[in-house]
Amino acid sequence: MARFETSTAEIDGYRPFPDERVHEYLDAGYWHGDTFHDVVDRHAAETPDSPAVTGPDRTLTYAELADRSRAIAAAFRAVGLGPDDLVTLYLPNCVEFVEVFLACSRAGLAPALALPRHREREIRHLVDLTGSRLVVTDAGRYDPGFDYAGLVDEVAGDADSVDALVGVTPDGAEPSEGWHDVESLATEGASAVAETAAGTAPGTGPEDALADLTVNPCNPGLLMLSGGTSGLPKAIPRTHNDYIYLWEHIAAAMGVESDWSLVAGLPVPHSFAFGYVLGPALWTGAEVVVEPRLKPGPVVEAIDRADGDLTTLIPKQLIDFLEADADDVLASLQVVCSGGQKVPPEVTRRVIERWDVGFCHVFGMGEGAQIITRPDDPLDIQAETIGRPVGPGDEVRVLDEAGRPVERGEPGELVVRGPGVFTGYLRNPEANAADFEDGGWFHTGDVVAERADGNYEVYGRLDDTINRAGETIYAPAVEDALVEHPDVAKAAVVGIPDPELGERVGAAVELVEGVDGLSVEEVQNFFEDQGHAVYRRPEQLVVLDELPETQVGKIDRGDVEHLFD
Ligand code: AMP
Repeated sequence: MARFETSTAEIDGYRPFPDERVHEYLDAGYWHGDTFHDVVDRHAAETPDSPAVTGPDRTLTYAELADRSRAIAAAFRAVGLGPDDLVTLYLPNCVEFVEVFLACSRAGLAPALALPRHREREIRHLVDLTGSRLVVTDAGRYDPGFDYAGLVDEVAGDADSVDALVGVTPDGAEPSEGWHDVESLATEGASAVAETAAGTAPGTGPEDALADLTVNPCNPGLLMLSGGTSGLPKAIPRTHNDYIYLWEHIAAAMGVESDWSLVAGLPVPHSFAFGYVLGPALWTGAEVVVEPRLKPGPVVEAIDRADGDLTTLIPKQLIDFLEADADDVLASLQVVCSGGQKVPPEVTRRVIERWDVGFCHVFGMGEGAQIITRPDDPLDIQAETIGRPVGPGDEVRVLDEAGRPVERGEPGELVVRGPGVFTGYLRNPEANAADFEDGGWFHTGDVVAERADGNYEVYGRLDDTINRAGETIYAPAVEDALVEHPDVAKAAVVGIPDPELGERVGAAVELVEGVDGLSVEEVQNFFEDQGHAVYRRPEQLVVLDELPETQVGKIDRGDVEHLFD
């Protein structure tokens, strides 16, 4: 098979890995030169009958996943889609997400992975930014409560770039006018594949087009979307090579085995579940379990049905799961990963002690840098740190404001580069100029410190820093202290602008069920009892029924700030 040693992508506004780094990563064995579908085809050949992906109502084996994604890819080629085309994949956690993602890989398309909670503003922006030629969405099969197809129809109607719309329709339903549906694409593609194999079709069928196509793993295989609490998402091109590097080393760090079931507790299009559930399962030949409804009830049921071995949850979900009284069901779990935002040490301790599981505290981002604790790390490391970089080729620096390395143990900005880190946002020269420095180093905007034992501690984002009369306070550290109060379930801390002190500490909290109220004085007394410095104590407190969330369910500090306007 051809070994690609350079990107051949002709995508406007895309910055490929420089050739010298491609050579370095291939020579070191960090990159294998595989595409996403190569990974699946290997298992389809070796363990064809192993379950690959399970949704609420069906399972596909590796052989079936390979065949169906090949058929859908053939159908994509038949409607004129091919290498360097960017498309939008806008689906909840479902079997079709995995099929279509792999079909894109086979056809050389790079799908932008929209989140189910994205709405018109984000989808319009994405389709415009990427010039998407295809949009795939739910046409009523999974979420009758929201008209995804209607939204996409409207956006596509205004976008010249879109040539094809594909929906996931309920069983027995016909696709709407102007739409294809995934099921019939799989069938049409499959018959084209069969005809070609039987030699009955002329040499121009879609399967021939697929056979002629060798996808270059140095090219983008997907676009992750940046999170954040304000503004529109940026698109993060990720190559097959660089994501597979993460899948391999994340799977190894978590100890994933081929007979495991990995259950997605978060949206699979988001980098957390994509990198810690879908990818490691596919890399290892294990089963990925997808459930479209991500409330605690359905996710616990999915873990129960599958006897799940591993799941990923953000801290808010961990707390909900602790309260859900589902310990019997969760007993099958061998590893729980949490992160995406700081996991309060108190919550980590409760999870490990109560569920007796291997814990991975995950610090990660769609841009690629991944730092995690390992399941067999001691409790102190799990609770107090984010562990160590995940892969052998990861390069990590901690820099001060002037860009100089800080002393070990001191906090500074995390700056990263390596075989699993992206090379620049798509079509966004301003962000790339601001966030990258020479040599391809990416400034993450996160503040961390490296401890003497090589584990990293996370302080928060540079902009989560509160400056009160010259004292630097990290909002996540105050949140950790707040959830130690017996009445507080969840907390979000922000800086409130103040003419005299610069900023003061404001806190919004969700109380433990059954607790009626909490005053700022009670919180301050608790901080005093716990020995926290005066300047770290919240000076204003708001009690909410539910804290505001970002589109992936993280606590939205941006919205909390407005509570103190
Ligand atoms: P996203 O845009 O959703 O990929 O979010 C990435 C950002 O989430 C990182 O840059 C961090 O600011 C934050 N983050 C992720 N994991 C953690 C963690 N374990 N602790 C603190 N912050 C985290």
